[in-house]
Amino acid sequence: MPVYKCFSCGKEISDKALKTRFSCPYCGCKIFFKPRKTVKRVKAV
Ligand SMILES: [Zn+2]
Repeated sequence: MPVYKCFSCGKEISDKALKTRFSCPYCGCKIFFKPRKTVKRVKAV
């Protein structure tokens, strides 16, 4: 399961969590990146 990191607070967020609500449950940030890959911004629709 892919895990993203919040671009703002750096908390790890599961892919499943983003499917239900596309925002960081900790700070509400909507920009994430995959820790093991190049930084990639993901915007909410
Ligand atoms: Zn956050």
